[in-house]
Amino acid sequence: MPDAQSTEQHKSQLLAQRAELLERMAFERGGVLGRAQVAAERYEASSSDDAQLRSEREDGFAMNEHETAELQDIDRALALVASGHYGECLDCEEFIPEQRLQATPTALRCIACQTALETAQSRA
Ligand SMILES: [Zn+2]
Repeated sequence: MPDAQSTEQHKSQLLAQRAELLERMAFERGGVLGRAQVAAERYEASSSDDAQLRSEREDGFAMNEHETAELQDIDRALALVASGHYGECLDCEEFIPEQRLQATPTALRCIACQTALETAQSRA
């Protein structure tokens, strides 16, 4: 079982990751602070090539989807910290190796289960 101290470390790592991600998302989506800036950029862009503008918008959208997924992973890991199940594999309930959690604090499964899941997903 992972000791309380390392769980605390992962928790603060997750919280830092979450704060950084939210800041980035707020900036990209033109949150309260960024809205005026985004409006100014749009005004400038309206004089440029339409195709270029469209592709930039699509890139931004793809990135936001990725970030939403990342945020869900972080929140899920934090919920597990709160319930005392952080570090347990969701599928087989074995403990995820500390080394893996350090590299990927949002890991919800052990490597064997994660690999099995990804193989199943790539077949679907
Ligand atoms: Zn597992």
